[in-house]
Amino acid sequence: MTPNEMDDARDCIFCRIAAKKLPAKFIFEDDLFFAIEDSAPQAPVHILVIPKKHIPEIRYISSDDSGLMERWFRTAMTIAKGRGLEEAGYRTVINNGSGGGQTVSHIHIHLLSGRKFHWPPG
Ligand code: 5GP
Ligand code: ZN
Repeated sequence: MTPNEMDDARDCIFCRIAAKKLPAKFIFEDDLFFAIEDSAPQAPVHILVIPKKHIPEIRYISSDDSGLMERWFRTAMTIAKGRGLEEAGYRTVINNGSGGGQTVSHIHIHLLSGRKFHWPPG
């Protein structure tokens, strides 16, 4: 990380949660990822699947991250499967940038389930 990115990581809610400096309801953690219950759930199941690496937005994903990206989606899928969501289905969302509704600048997959979802999204 560049010095600027390290500053960002120090101020980042999700980096602070990963470092156990802020509380959260963890439902999964390994060396590269963690998953927590969203503090303002928008569905009966609302889980955030988060890489521990501080990547602020999709545009900062590098080619070095290709394995990480594959594991990221596999982790989300495994959590969904573990919750028994595969049959009913679920929605995965990545809000990106302020225009995309992103409010925390550390990429995360929203894993949502337990109600009907509409298209187009709000
Ligand atoms: P975004 O708006 O960036 O796509 O998603 C950020 C999500 O993080 C929101 O759904 C918001 O409710 C959740 N969130 C923000 N701060 C916290 C926190 O401190 N703890 C937890 N568990 N979720 C948070
Ligand atoms: Zn971060």
